[in-house]
Amino acid sequence: MIERAVSGRASDLWKAIETVTDETADRVIKDARGIKPFVQPVVLLVLGIVAGGATLLAPVAELRFGLMAATGGFLAAAGLVTLRDIWRTWRVQNTFQAAFTLIHHDPSPCFCTDEDGAIVLQNASAERRFGDRLGQPMARAIAGVLPNAAAVVFRQETAMGRRPSAHEIVVTPRGTVRLAAHRLNGGVIWRMDDLADANSRHGEWIGLPMMVVSHNDTVLSMNSAMREVLGRRATTLEDVFPDQPLVAGRRSSLSSVNGSIEVIPIVVPSKDGRREVYAIPGLSEPPAASVAARAFESLPVALLHISADGEVLASNFRAQALLGIDASVTGPMSQFVVNLGRPVGDWIADSLAERVPNRSEVARAKQRKDETFLQISLSRIVDGTGPSLLAVLHDATELKNLEQQFVQSQKMQAIGELAGGVAHDFNNLLTAITGHCDLLLLRHDQGDPDYADLVQINQNANRAASLVGQLLAFSRKQTLEPEVMDLSDTISELTHLLNRLVGEKISLSLSNDPDLQPIRADRRQLDQVIMNLVVNARDAMPDGGEVRVETRMVHLTSPMARDQVIVPNGAYVTIRVRDHGHGIPADKLNRIFEPFFTTKRTGEGTGLGLSMAYGIIKQTGGYIFVDSVVGSGTTFTIYIPAHVNANLQEPTKVIEAKATEINDPVNGGRPGVVLLVEDEAPVRAFASRALRLRGYTVLEAACAEEALETLSDDTLEIDLFVTDVIMPGMDGPTWVREALKERPETKVVFVSGYAEDAMEGGSIGVPGSVFLPKPFSLTDLTDTVRQQLH
Ligand code: ADP
Repeated sequence: MIERAVSGRASDLWKAIETVTDETADRVIKDARGIKPFVQPVVLLVLGIVAGGATLLAPVAELRFGLMAATGGFLAAAGLVTLRDIWRTWRVQNTFQAAFTLIHHDPSPCFCTDEDGAIVLQNASAERRFGDRLGQPMARAIAGVLPNAAAVVFRQETAMGRRPSAHEIVVTPRGTVRLAAHRLNGGVIWRMDDLADANSRHGEWIGLPMMVVSHNDTVLSMNSAMREVLGRRATTLEDVFPDQPLVAGRRSSLSSVNGSIEVIPIVVPSKDGRREVYAIPGLSEPPAASVAARAFESLPVALLHISADGEVLASNFRAQALLGIDASVTGPMSQFVVNLGRPVGDWIADSLAERVPNRSEVARAKQRKDETFLQISLSRIVDGTGPSLLAVLHDATELKNLEQQFVQSQKMQAIGELAGGVAHDFNNLLTAITGHCDLLLLRHDQGDPDYADLVQINQNANRAASLVGQLLAFSRKQTLEPEVMDLSDTISELTHLLNRLVGEKISLSLSNDPDLQPIRADRRQLDQVIMNLVVNARDAMPDGGEVRVETRMVHLTSPMARDQVIVPNGAYVTIRVRDHGHGIPADKLNRIFEPFFTTKRTGEGTGLGLSMAYGIIKQTGGYIFVDSVVGSGTTFTIYIPAHVNANLQEPTKVIEAKATEINDPVNGGRPGVVLLVEDEAPVRAFASRALRLRGYTVLEAACAEEALETLSDDTLEIDLFVTDVIMPGMDGPTWVREALKERPETKVVFVSGYAEDAMEGGSIGVPGSVFLPKPFSLTDLTDTVRQQLH
């Protein structure tokens, strides 16, 4: 095409040169320095004259004749050459005149150079643009515009050795320039075109298909490459690119003459809302995009690209791994994660609208088999397609677990406080129940028909008291109350409870070694340990099975090394709790005793059972080991040192104690006066009756204020204060301290449903006072009072 345009112009030029003459051209050409003097004819003329002179001087006739002939030849040659030069000069002048006439009005800068390459003519435009360049070589004249002018001119001149004209398009820092050269008789005409303001607007010289569209997508022009590709003229952008809207840089289909082809459209904005649309064929992706894609893939961060309507458009390798999906998978974000706070859709919409600060949210990966939590931050990005979101994903599973543990431990603390409160009230009730029962027992001896029922009430109240004690074990660290005991008895007593614990699907089998030696341990705590192990065994067999609890005497003759501990030689009582459940994988085995380690679902496991067991057994001087085979079951084994010099004492039986008391005479001469302060009426009633039965004079008060009022009577002699610690209004220690100022000799017994160590200041800060925990039996109370007074 370009070729065609150029050759068309060249023939126009030649036609013009042949027809146009101008006086101005004449004048300028006369001034021009390019026309050579007639050197050849002069030389020939001189040679002719020399030869003529020599003819006259020649002595010999033959020589004269020869010289005459030479003279004639030279003169004739001089004449012919002169004629030829005159003709040539005339032609050159004529051609130049015509050329100049033509180029003088040309808006593009034009020059004529002679055969030596010096500029002999330049038109007005060239003069304006380059100044006076006459006599200079072409390369120098245009060097200001073409940095490599010398090379360009040389190439043009070389090309013109073969063709009448040549042109070259040169891209310069300031634009694209075409330099065209046409061979003339005796010289060259040069013409320089700035393509930027000529053909470029239509892209005619560009090999790439392009078109110019208006602001409303009407095609204003298209270059021949585009016309060739389309095979027609298109009127609208949609004619060319049927998939609208057209997105720059994104692969689109173009309706070509041969059907639909894939191209990458490049859109360059131009004046007045116009756009130049270029179609780059044959590339699968624009180079920049593929670099971006590679970077997206290789960044060491998990990334997702999410469209404005919440679809995952792209994910990199790390994101796929975190989400548990394949590279090819796309779809709505809500298909991959579930947000723990609020619906994924709302979150995406808020981030797109930038309604919320760029805060990250925690979500669970839905497609992962294991529980994986992800911290996801969304940032809004805007490209040619409009706004979308870039999501950065972090694995937050560890963090989430910690949080859950924290929540769990807070829950435990709350339960602990609740349990403590309930236990306190229960202890008051139990004190009243056992107390009144004790009072009844005082009046009914073993032969009485009601005796057995009263003993039942008493025993069950005691069992309730031990349950309250377990409840309290959750709320705080209990001090161990070790006693020497027979483990088989303990386990037998526990059987009932354990059977209830395991439920119907699971059978519990117990086997006790008949030769068990006694141990020294806290009975309630040990019960707790066994219960925890049995509960875990039950949970490991959701489909039912058998839990075996076995006790055995083991004599280690040498120290036993196990699980990085060494069990010294000696006699041990062992307890084994065995199940045929799912077992514990090796990687979890060394973590199960950690507090809060649980594989159970939230609400089902606290992760405290085994850590409690471990703590209690350690404190008892024993060891706990675990053996587990995944799929076949788990065995926990506890070693507790046998109690040497065993002197097995039966735990004190309330009934027996009471029986002694009934027969015991009342202590001391003067029984003493007791001020009893207790806000719980049933407890107060039982305690005052118990003390009166023992011969004491009892003054009662329902609160501290009432007690102090009673004491304001100086004539009253009081030997002992028995007071509750926590009461509405003033508490026990406070009123006691107040009263002791006036009556420093008075003895003090504090009673409370809270363990002593739970009280502020430990011993409640009253010197010489003693503490009696609730629930207490009649004997506990009277013994304590007697010891304080005597
Ligand atoms: P919890 O029972 O509240 O989870 P534990 O400290 O009692 O807390 O147990 C910790 C974890 O040890 C359990 O979640 C379970 O994974 C594992 N475990 C304990 N006992 C067994 C058992 N007998 N069989 C299988 N796994 C067990």
